[in-house]
Amino acid sequence: MGSSEGGSGSYDYDVIVVGGGSGGLACAKRCAKHGKKVTLLDFVKPSPYGTKWGLGGTCVNVGCIPKKLMHYGALLGESAGDARSLGWTTFGKEDGKEHPTHDWETLVMSVQNYVRGLNFGYRTELREQSVDYKNEFGVFVDEHTIECTNKRGEKKNITGEYIVFAPGGRPRYLGVPGDKELCITSDDIFSLQKSPGKTLVVGASYIALECAGFLTAFGYDTYVMARSIFLRGFDQEVAEHIGSYMERHGTKIIKRCVPVKFEKVEDESSPNHGMIACTYKNLDFEFETTEYFDTVLLAVGRDACTTEVNLDAAGIKLNEKTGKVYVDEYDQTSTRNIFAIGDAVDTRQELTPVAIKSGERLADRLFGGRPEFKMDYLEVPTTVFTPLEYGCVGMSEELAVETYGMDKLEIYLSFLRPLEWKTNQEFHDAKKGVEHREDNSVFFKMITLKEENERVIGLHYVGPHAGEVIQGFAVAVKMKATKADFDDTVGIHPTVAEEFTMLKVTRSSGMDPTKRGC
Ligand code: FAD
Ligand code: NDP
Repeated sequence: MGSSEGGSGSYDYDVIVVGGGSGGLACAKRCAKHGKKVTLLDFVKPSPYGTKWGLGGTCVNVGCIPKKLMHYGALLGESAGDARSLGWTTFGKEDGKEHPTHDWETLVMSVQNYVRGLNFGYRTELREQSVDYKNEFGVFVDEHTIECTNKRGEKKNITGEYIVFAPGGRPRYLGVPGDKELCITSDDIFSLQKSPGKTLVVGASYIALECAGFLTAFGYDTYVMARSIFLRGFDQEVAEHIGSYMERHGTKIIKRCVPVKFEKVEDESSPNHGMIACTYKNLDFEFETTEYFDTVLLAVGRDACTTEVNLDAAGIKLNEKTGKVYVDEYDQTSTRNIFAIGDAVDTRQELTPVAIKSGERLADRLFGGRPEFKMDYLEVPTTVFTPLEYGCVGMSEELAVETYGMDKLEIYLSFLRPLEWKTNQEFHDAKKGVEHREDNSVFFKMITLKEENERVIGLHYVGPHAGEVIQGFAVAVKMKATKADFDDTVGIHPTVAEEFTMLKVTRSSGMDPTKRGC
């Protein structure tokens, strides 16, 4: 892989980065740090609902960041019961209300103010690092030329020795009548000006369950329409645990159904006037039902932004099934000088830290004198920020069984109730008819491979601070830690995560994995 030394040679730039999200920004900044002349194009086409946003891509504007803030907001409400049992009396007492009250407009204003600050910060950072930022849409003309179109529709061609393609993805629509006209997606929910009211969330994976989780916690009548399983690809025992917890805590689950059409109720005499009528079909019995919602949020997957950029002109090959770009282990596309990173790349995890690390390592390989500094896409930890958070690294039980066979595995389990939740045992959530903090809903699963000295090949944790817990243990799993290594590690007391250092009950023993006492 060659590079143009110090300047742009016969090209306008050493590197053109198309896409200013997690991957593109990280790569552009690192290329500039290596002394290269870099330009970064980032352009957001408004969602069908009309939402648009600034520099930073999905994570910052319509993904991880606003989502985590809303999730945190939801957890604060959930903690109100714990707080009361430990002496706080402020929640809703003034107006005599039993439950904490929530204001959607304040939430959205705080979240969007923070996001706008991040947009500004990225622009400043690019300027400071001499990356030429263009708020323009990039389309391939040939393997070294990009046509840039600004928001006034003015066009200009630029050339680069290398091109890094990092366009990310956008939410998919269902393709049924009324979906684009009446439904919103994750592109819209975090800046929605009016409170969502009675909401239908279509889909049952990361985005659907995370959004349904915080909407339920804020007090909205929230429905999830799942056509099959929860959290496809994740450990299904855990996914079921999360789904049934959400259902017991107020989210209504419409199982085995898919929407057929959406219509606005125009009839002014109807009690549902102004609402969205969703007609949906049961997949087992084929009957159709109509239900009325204030908001319908589609979370049925995302499509890579690879269709409007003339990839053929540059010879870039796609997986026709997924619409994502084929790359090799060096992130090189089918065209020698063009690389692709992030959500638009075939088989890669759609996660921010994956896009960032890919981008940085690509720059280090190209210009940092580390030609073999590849990204390892195995054992990538992740967390689903549902009301009961779920963090994991390594294999699900299903994948481990499929890969090695059940007889090669030892699976350790534990259920417990965190100390922090123990004081409000008497506090039942009257509205939902369940105990606010359920016993034994925190869940640990460790999957080990017997023939490799009980090496840990899958670690799953459902409970508070799942991301924080699994982030640390992921290092151990990546370093091939064994069950004995976990046992040799002294726990930190009193924490929830210490349970991973003292797991005893195996699935094969048939013993009850429920933990009692301290
Ligand atoms: P993006 O961040 O999508 O950036 C691509 C940018 O390129 C966009 O700004 C786009 O408008 C622009 N662009 C596209 N085409 C062009 C073009 N031709 N010319 C110019 N600009 C173009 N990941 C996590 O790790 N943790 C989470 O908690 C998490 N939560 C999420 C929650 C939601 C609701 C969503 C939707 C995603 C979440 N993700 C999360 C995933 C994460 O946001 C993505 O994996 C990450 O943003 C991908 O980065 P990227 O650089 O590939 O693309
Ligand atoms: P996914 O592709 O993970 O899930 C799509 C969901 O929609 C599935 O439940 C699927 O059901 C359902 N679905 C698909 N098509 C239809 C249809 N026609 N009718 C009804 N249901 C349908 O997409 P997400 O949008 O949830 O997430 C995209 C990616 O974003 C994730 O893979 C993840 O990498 C990233 N992300 C990460 C987060 C985090 O780190 N915390 C949070 C959010 C997103 P079925 O199973 O039946 O196919």
